[in-house]
Amino acid sequence: MVYAQVALDISTRALDCAFDYGVPEALESQAVVGATVLVSFGHRQAVGYIVSLSDRPSAKIRADHILPIQQVLVSSSFDEVAAQLALWIAKEYACPLSEALHPFLPPGQSVRVRKRTACPVDTAAHEKEDSPHTMWELVCEQAGPVDDRWVCLTEEGKSFVPSRRASRQRAIVSALAAGPSRMAELVATIPGASSVVSTLERRGIVAVESRRRVRGSAEQTTTLSSAIAHRPEHLTQGQEEALLAIREAIAAQRGDVVLVDGVTGSGKTEVYLAAIEHVLRQGKGAIVLVPEISLTAQTVGRFRSRFGDDVAVLHSRLSVGERFDQWDLIHRGDVHVVVGARSALFAPLTNVGLIVVDEEHEASYKQDSAPRYHAREVAAKLAQLRGAALVLGSATPSLESLERCQRPTYRDAVWRRVVMDERPGKAQLPTVKIADMTQEFAVGNRSIFSRDLRQALLDIEERREKAVLLLNRRGFATFLMCRECGCVPTCPHCSTSLAYHERTHALVCHTCGRSWPTRAWPDPSTSCPNCGSRYLGQFGVGTQRVEDELQALLGDDVSIIRMDADTTRTKGAHQRLLERFDASDCAVLIGTQMVAKGLDFPEVTLVGVVNADTTLKLPDFRAAERTYDLLEQVAGRAGRGDRPGRVIIQTYWASHPAIASVATHDRSTFLASELDSRREAYYPPFARLTNVVVWGLDAKKVRDAANEIATQARQEASHRDGWHVLGPAECARGRVKDRTRWHVLIKTPTNADPGPVLSACVSHLGSLAKHVRVAIDVDAYDLM
Ligand code: ADP
Ligand code: ZN
Ligand code: ZN
Repeated sequence: MVYAQVALDISTRALDCAFDYGVPEALESQAVVGATVLVSFGHRQAVGYIVSLSDRPSAKIRADHILPIQQVLVSSSFDEVAAQLALWIAKEYACPLSEALHPFLPPGQSVRVRKRTACPVDTAAHEKEDSPHTMWELVCEQAGPVDDRWVCLTEEGKSFVPSRRASRQRAIVSALAAGPSRMAELVATIPGASSVVSTLERRGIVAVESRRRVRGSAEQTTTLSSAIAHRPEHLTQGQEEALLAIREAIAAQRGDVVLVDGVTGSGKTEVYLAAIEHVLRQGKGAIVLVPEISLTAQTVGRFRSRFGDDVAVLHSRLSVGERFDQWDLIHRGDVHVVVGARSALFAPLTNVGLIVVDEEHEASYKQDSAPRYHAREVAAKLAQLRGAALVLGSATPSLESLERCQRPTYRDAVWRRVVMDERPGKAQLPTVKIADMTQEFAVGNRSIFSRDLRQALLDIEERREKAVLLLNRRGFATFLMCRECGCVPTCPHCSTSLAYHERTHALVCHTCGRSWPTRAWPDPSTSCPNCGSRYLGQFGVGTQRVEDELQALLGDDVSIIRMDADTTRTKGAHQRLLERFDASDCAVLIGTQMVAKGLDFPEVTLVGVVNADTTLKLPDFRAAERTYDLLEQVAGRAGRGDRPGRVIIQTYWASHPAIASVATHDRSTFLASELDSRREAYYPPFARLTNVVVWGLDAKKVRDAANEIATQARQEASHRDGWHVLGPAECARGRVKDRTRWHVLIKTPTNADPGPVLSACVSHLGSLAKHVRVAIDVDAYDLM
């Protein structure tokens, strides 16, 4: 008898292990690892996924108590290694096994068992437990492939000459002489084509076959010149060294890591491309992760221009059907290079030789819903399991990665750092100047622009060059503030300051999306909710205001392109804006964080940062690191071509190491001060930080639950070295959508495994568990 270990997909139960089921002989060929199956569990039926097979059951259960698998519902969608990775994710990030498996399933697949709704049982009893009388039904949703019908000439058909009078036959045969054609196309161009094709098919002149169609994505094209990765004549010395280290890591086949620490514009993409060519020659494939925000036609184009149809692209802006098609191409082994956002790690590519994580410092690699994994860590584990190499690339590597390169090994892998500190060819790093805004204020300059930035923008206009202006802050930075008491209106349902939208005169909560026209907030007058004062002033700057001031400063022959959450809402808008910027001869691109990353326009000679310090003030231990990364990244957009670039950073906090070190291109000053304070405060990379968040409608129950978790965690910490429990405390965002939020922070040594311990702590909540929700966020990034 063969036994299958099945991970049950039951949403109401947090099951963190697989259960044994017997594989009936009739199902042996289908019941393989990765298959979706139907089994019975207690009094109910359940859907599950086979994670492993064995010839004897695990010791937990007696062989004669083992139930058989009832049905195989979907054939295999992942292999043993993927199943091992899911088990690791479930343990590492303290989530149910089925949740860790979901990302491995085909996009659009949802197979579940639910209670039959038209059930004659009275609802109270019905809710209580799964009684033997409950009726169950299977609900299957799947995004399948779509097929096109294609028509082609058969061997005999090639010599067939239609009679003169059969004009439609002649039209079809001559169309097909050039090659097979889609039925839909023939029908659209030749009236009555479908009946003529049937006739010709019966006579053996043409053949009709189904061919799978790949929806969408492939059509993604762009006019951006930088979307083509021209093969350079020779690699720079830094690129050669990086490639050598990567080849060694690939040959080692044990998950070794190479950190490519390369200044902006040093040609990291070319290193990835060459490394991928290397593994393709060995008959293996590669997975490339880029942050969702930089997964643009420009980025994808660079990979397509080198590997053509051998590339699948996976990201969240694709429709389910499009995503399924890309997944299916990989699953069938038709493509060997996968480019995507963090979830591309779960693509069904089995023969992996290389994984690349570009811009590895990006916080978006941490998923903020279950499974709360970090893509860098999952990539490292996957590389180890598959015997592949991992390449991390960044101009501003994370402190975590830098620290690991200092150790002989980290989690049994060798981490090696390679420095690329020069740009290829004539391109030079830009000169950076700090504009101290307190001094601007002192001399009476009330404009958004310092005198330096103003002059630099006028120079751009005169020399017909291009500039990028960064407004630091996601979305909007404008708030209404009471001039008398300093209060900022916050959302009554969330503890979030309301953002003021200048054009619509609305106050918007970016947490729950509610909005109030200014006149009606908080009452039908514009008075302060705190003191009743009518002097509500606008505070901070939004992209729209920068646009307006810029328009006033520059003439009509400079294109001003604004890129923010507002102007990029529609599909393809982001790309159209970049194409406009590319096509103009003189232009300024204004935007939020999204202009800082990855753009490669050689004609940009000026980068201005309107307000460098807003992110420094966030209550987050990574605030300085994030600010430094952002400034260094955006500065890197200047001077990528032949003409030298300059950067002007406006700030009220010129002395801060994160800002000062960008000015001198000297990361070591920033790193030294930052690492010192992290070490002293026992924060990552010197500790692991887990954030346990509790939320619910009943504030007292939330507090009680947070207290209980903290008590349990302290008990566990008391007999472990280097474990510290902080809190419970109310979260910085103490209210979200009317739910109260509390949290407990747990610091552990870097080699500790907090996941399983904290899951156990949370499982002690007892009756409180019904009233609150709990998230265990291991290696948390969002602490608010
Ligand atoms: P990064 O990702 O490190 O910021 P990119 O990969 O975008 O840098 O490369 C910057 C520019 O340098 C690109 O236009 C690229 O085509 C060019 N480039 C890369 N390698 C070379 C090389 N060896 N010789 C000449 N140009 C190169
Ligand atoms: Zn007030
Ligand atoms: Zn709100």
